[in-house]
Amino acid sequence: KTANGPADEAADDLTLLAERHLVQPWPVSGSIGAEARGRLDAGEGIYVTDASGRRLIDGPAGMWCVNAGHRNRELAEVMASQAMELSYNSPWYTTNAPSVILSARLAEHAPDGVDHVFYTTGGSSAVETALRFMQFANNVKGRPEKKLIVSRQGGYHGSTYLSASLNGRPRDHDWMDSASDLVVKLSCPDPFRRPDGMSVEAFCDFLVEEFRQVIEEKGADRIGAFIAEPVMASGGVIVPPPGYLRRMQDLCRRNDILFIADEVVTAFGRLGHVFASKEVFGIEPDMITFAKGVTSGYFPLGGVMIAGRLFEELRRSNHSEAMFAHGLTYSSHPVGCAVALKNLDILEGGLLAHARAVSDHFQQSLKALEELPLVGEVRGLGLMACVECVADRASKNPLTLDLEVGKRIDRHCQELGLLVRPLIHMCVMSPPLTISLEQIDDMVSILRRGIELTMDDLTREGLWKG
Ligand code: PLP
Repeated sequence: KTANGPADEAADDLTLLAERHLVQPWPVSGSIGAEARGRLDAGEGIYVTDASGRRLIDGPAGMWCVNAGHRNRELAEVMASQAMELSYNSPWYTTNAPSVILSARLAEHAPDGVDHVFYTTGGSSAVETALRFMQFANNVKGRPEKKLIVSRQGGYHGSTYLSASLNGRPRDHDWMDSASDLVVKLSCPDPFRRPDGMSVEAFCDFLVEEFRQVIEEKGADRIGAFIAEPVMASGGVIVPPPGYLRRMQDLCRRNDILFIADEVVTAFGRLGHVFASKEVFGIEPDMITFAKGVTSGYFPLGGVMIAGRLFEELRRSNHSEAMFAHGLTYSSHPVGCAVALKNLDILEGGLLAHARAVSDHFQQSLKALEELPLVGEVRGLGLMACVECVADRASKNPLTLDLEVGKRIDRHCQELGLLVRPLIHMCVMSPPLTISLEQIDDMVSILRRGIELTMDDLTREGLWKG
C-alpha cells in the first residue's frame, strides 16, 4: 500500500506504521500489536540519536552488544566487501574461509582443548545448540536418561523453547509454557540478597551444597549439564561469590556433568577478555556459548565453543551412523564471520586493553551513587554494572513493579542525554567499550541527576519515604 507512495497521510508516520504492523520483543497483552517504541535513527561511537534529533549516550550498548561502538567504518566496510565477495554459502554442503579462520582464532582465546565452534544466529540458538548437543552425545553414549539441565534463579538464556525453559527471572514464566520437566533450578548466587546474617563465604558454601544435594537427589546419571552466565546479566549483573564458579565446576567434573558457560554477554571484551571463563574466573567449561559482542551487534551471529574431547568420544562410540540432526541455514554465515574477524582485530588491537584500563574508573564512579538513599547497591565487573534501587536499605525491599523505578530513571536520563536499560527497580549500564574516562563521568553524572529527579518525584507522589 505504501510502496508507491502513502495510501493516506497517516501511513507516512512511522509511529503509526509501527503500531499497525510491527511486533517488538517482550510485549504485554495490553498493548501487543499496537505499540510503537522510541525510535533511534543514527549512532556514532558511544552515542545514538533519537527520532527527535536528541543525542544520547548508549548506556546499554544496544543490548550489551555494540562493543566496538556505533558507526565503525572498518566493520561496515568488511561487511560490504564480504557480501560482494561471497554473500552466502550453504553450510550443509560447503564451507567458507572467514568461518574457518574465525574458528581457529576463537580456539586460541578459549580455554585449552575448547577448540571447536558451531555457529548460530544469536544467543538463544547457541544455548539451544549446546543443550541439543548434550542430549545427542548422551544418546550416542548409551545413557539417554542423563538429560536434566541445571540452571539458576535469576538467569537468562534465551527465547527459544528449551533455552527459555532455563530462565529464572521473575515474570519470565508467568504466562509462558516451558519444558520444566527437563530443568532443575538452583538459587540465585546474589550476595546482596543472601540470607540475613550469613557471610558471603557461608553463602557460597550454601550454594555449592545445594547443587551437591540436587545431584544426590536426582542422581548424577540423570543430570546432563549445568549452565551458568559467569556474571548474570539480565538478572541484574549478579557477580557470584568468589570461588563459586570453580566449585560448581568441580562438582560437574566429579559427576560427569557438562559445564556450559553462557558468555553471550561476558565475552568479547565486556570483562576485558575475549572469553572471561578462564581469564577472569579460572574455570574451563566444556562448552561456551557466545553471541552479541562477537560482531559488536553489526550482524546476528552466535555460536558454541565445544571441547574437542567431546567429539573424540563420539568418534570412538559404536554408533558411527548417529547423526547430530541440528543445523541452521545461517550457521557459519560468511558475512557474519568476516565481521567477527574484523571485530576480533579491533579487540586484540587495543580495545580489550582499553576496556580493562577504564573499568576501575567505571565501577568506582558508579559505586559512588550508593550515596543516594534510593540506591541499595551498585555492583558490577568490567564494563557491566547495575544500580539496584530499594525502598529502604535496612530491609533491602525492592520497590515494587508498579512504581517502575527503572523506567522513571530512564525517562529522566533520556531528557538529559543518556539511554538506560531499565529492569523493574534496577538500571543496567554496559556502554560501548570505546567509552573514555570523560564520557564515563558524563554518563554517571546524568545517571545521578536522573536518580535524584526520580527521588523527588516519588517523594512528591507520596510513594517513597526516603
Ligand atoms: N544468553 C544470555 C546470557 C543473554 O543475555 C541472552 C540475551 O540477552 C541470550 C542468551 C539470548 O541471546 P539472543 O537474544 O541473541 O538470542
